[in-house]
Amino acid sequence: AEDQRITRIKNLVGGFPDFPKPGILFRDIFPVLRNPGAFKELINVVVEHVQKTAPDVEIIVGLDSRGFIFGPMVAHALGIGFVPVRKSGKLPGETISVAYSLEYGKDRFEMQKDSLKADQKVIIIDDLIATGGTMAAACELVGLLKANIVQCFVVIELEDLNGKSKLSAPFKSLIKYS
Ligand code: AMP
Repeated sequence: AEDQRITRIKNLVGGFPDFPKPGILFRDIFPVLRNPGAFKELINVVVEHVQKTAPDVEIIVGLDSRGFIFGPMVAHALGIGFVPVRKSGKLPGETISVAYSLEYGKDRFEMQKDSLKADQKVIIIDDLIATGGTMAAACELVGLLKANIVQCFVVIELEDLNGKSKLSAPFKSLIKYS
């Protein structure tokens, strides 16, 4: 059932050594999306997982930029809203911002100040967690807006980097590599 679907999805994930920098093994999710059956299965597995573990979630927060592929699809299927966390300089109006570092670089993340309400129940979604710096920065932003993080969700977890240790909210990944 779920395990079989996840194995089918995992078999399609690509691996590219030394991309985008020497020493990084890049896990490529796009071959999953290219395959219509696997793409549908992936979204279904995520939606079912959310319905089971966080049925009262009110809004999905997705991270720039591959979180923008899964986040809105999951929100749409659940009939709830979507809010983006973007790299700096992309969002109009009043924003809040934090600096962060990821497995292969450094950046700033921003959210629109009015994008979440206090105590709103949020799931943060991204494609992959490596060091956890990206997800932790998103948690910091959501926390600044005083929303309630019910779960941090990623499709792929690079277990050896122990990114989830940087998170205080409940964490879930579908596919693990070590
Ligand atoms: P980190 O902040 O180190 O957890 O890095 C996570 C972010 O960087 C995610 O948004 C990923 O899309 C991207 N990323 C980091 N490492 C990899 C990797 N090995 N393969 C694919 N994407 C990665």
